[in-house]
Amino acid sequence: MTADEVLDDDCLFCKIVAGDIEADVVHESTTTLAFRDLDPQAPTHVLVIPRSHYPNAAALASGEPETAAHLFDAAAAIAESEGLGEGYRLVFNTGAQAHQSVFHAHMHLLGGRAMTWPPG
Ligand code: AMP
Repeated sequence: MTADEVLDDDCLFCKIVAGDIEADVVHESTTTLAFRDLDPQAPTHVLVIPRSHYPNAAALASGEPETAAHLFDAAAAIAESEGLGEGYRLVFNTGAQAHQSVFHAHMHLLGGRAMTWPPG
């Protein structure tokens, strides 16, 4: 953890950042952490999160725009290390109707199979 991280004691992903809950970490930087989703929806399903707590992507982009960009840098590095040269999908579910269930901003990186469009 770095000194300027802002964590929420009640947040599952903040507990992963703090090391209080284990995760299968695949990539990390000073501002981001990426780990495999517990309930994968594709052969590669990784969550890329800011270390600091923001409830959704818009709040992150407003509060720490550089970190928002770092999520995309991390996704590109992970896509390369996971061999996703054929393509992959990045998703931010935002709000309950979009099935956001963890209110700490996170990017889903999905790949390793053909994707359908439009998504459900
Ligand atoms: P969302 O529904 O967009 O909020 O995504 C939250 C994701 O977090 C879901 O895909 C869950 O499967 C995943 N998830 C929940 N708890 C954990 C955990 N402890 N480790 C890894 N992934 C998790």
